[in-house]
Amino acid sequence: MGNMEEEKDSGAHKTHGQHESGHEKQVEHANAGGHGQGKAHKNHVQENAKTLGVIAKEAIKEKEQPLHEHLMEISMKRSFLIPSAEIYGASSGFYDYGPIGCLIKKRIENEWRRQFLVRNGFLEIETCMVLPQIVLQASGHVGSFSDPLVECKKCKGSFRADHLVSQQTSESVQNANAQQLVEMIKKYAVLCPNCNEPTLGEVGTFNLMFKTNVGAAEGNTAYLRPETAQGIFLDFGRIFRNFGSKLPIAVGQVGRSFRNEISPRQALVRMREFTQMEIEYFFNPQNPKMENFSEIADVKMRLGEDEASAREMGASEAVAQKIIPNEIMAFFMANQQLFYERVGVPKEKFYFRVLGEKERPHYSLGNIDMEVQSSFGWIETVGNAYRTDFDLSSHAKFSKQDLSVFVEEEKKRLLPHVVEPSMGVDRLFWCVLEHTYRGKSAQKDWEWFDLPPCIAPYDAAVFPLMKKDGLAEKAQEVCRLLRENGLAINYSESGSIGKRYARADEVGVCYCITVDYDTLKDGTVTVRFRNDGGQVRFKIEELAQKISGFSREGKTSLQ
Ligand SMILES: [Zn+2]
Repeated sequence: MGNMEEEKDSGAHKTHGQHESGHEKQVEHANAGGHGQGKAHKNHVQENAKTLGVIAKEAIKEKEQPLHEHLMEISMKRSFLIPSAEIYGASSGFYDYGPIGCLIKKRIENEWRRQFLVRNGFLEIETCMVLPQIVLQASGHVGSFSDPLVECKKCKGSFRADHLVSQQTSESVQNANAQQLVEMIKKYAVLCPNCNEPTLGEVGTFNLMFKTNVGAAEGNTAYLRPETAQGIFLDFGRIFRNFGSKLPIAVGQVGRSFRNEISPRQALVRMREFTQMEIEYFFNPQNPKMENFSEIADVKMRLGEDEASAREMGASEAVAQKIIPNEIMAFFMANQQLFYERVGVPKEKFYFRVLGEKERPHYSLGNIDMEVQSSFGWIETVGNAYRTDFDLSSHAKFSKQDLSVFVEEEKKRLLPHVVEPSMGVDRLFWCVLEHTYRGKSAQKDWEWFDLPPCIAPYDAAVFPLMKKDGLAEKAQEVCRLLRENGLAINYSESGSIGKRYARADEVGVCYCITVDYDTLKDGTVTVRFRNDGGQVRFKIEELAQKISGFSREGKTSLQ
């Protein structure tokens, strides 16, 4: 493939925040990268940019820098993110999570695990990332998991053909095939972004999977998995037999997946290595009921074909109106609604996009994505799909194994159907940063993150007022006690107490515990709440319980 677009791009990652292009252009690009380039969609992106611009204005007034660039700088300064292989110039589309980012990400994953798996008694597995070629032939990824690629005849640069067309023309590129893209490129004399000349050639396809070879002998082709879902289908038969041989059965997985994106940009939005949280819910197609549906029947969601037409309705109403195909998918969507709000994405910042029949794969009986507002435009962060028995029947055919199961009520064997809720962790992490970021204000002379306690990097921070007079020793004792109680504690004794409060705010810690001279006298400490700075004293013995309680309630202000 030679001179890929990314090569040129990779340098930019070293100096995030120094892209030449202005905000306007970035937004346009982001929009082109997503799906659903309707006219309404575009207008909304511009509006979002404005709204987010207002939010960010206080903090970045002088700089006139897009929010995502500013956040990327902060993310690197505060150990949220580190560009992978940074000392070698970084490689585009790969990010490491630094010590603080890693803590937040793990908590997001654990919250998901708790709400989606543990709470419902669903199973969790961890399957291999390297898969033999035949698995991905069966799943369809070898044949059709590709992007349209166009090469410049002059500079030999490679680009996403659909992106260039949608950036430079008003044509809709949704579902356009290679031939149609070539025609549009010719008709509008689409330019090579490097040469600024109409020097683009034919459109080819580029498979997005990373290919490798297993063992020393050649020809044993394998791929890094492009999604965690396939591992669940492969293990289905054995799990079904080992866990009661009864439908429904749900299996989830959290893990890395890999997609060799042609031109990853947009920070964590388009990555080549990323984390997914997926569930396959296997059920009898004659009985698409969800046992705990009543729990969430009234949860309100915004649903529509795009953001402009989305309207709020309850889960059961959406099923009754057949907007959501069944209770099972509605159950997962309602939980996604609650989960997103819980981890800090305000409900007016996301909606569920109902895909039209033409946008869905042929075997699907319903696809509903979640889209979240961001400074890159509306981005897809969750996909829900009613995949019928497509995956199991295909794996049955390729493996020549019988994957059907006996269903008692029907007195016959059948292939279970699946509903697949699939969530990206990294995009969610990024959206949480964007929506919890707070600029400087009259109350706080520093930028901070309004993270909910359930995903804050630490449960609390412990500080001695000063290092001397035995205060540090006492504070270390308090820190040990809390850690023994299972709390994640950040301990710091350097800098003024005001500086330490600021540093805790800057990474989203909700509670700061200070050991002072009164502590030595009466065994009490102060707890400072992040959002209003309000302080209250508690006895050391009751501290662990108090902090856990505030955290459960999501309390971030004293008042
Ligand atoms: Zn060129």
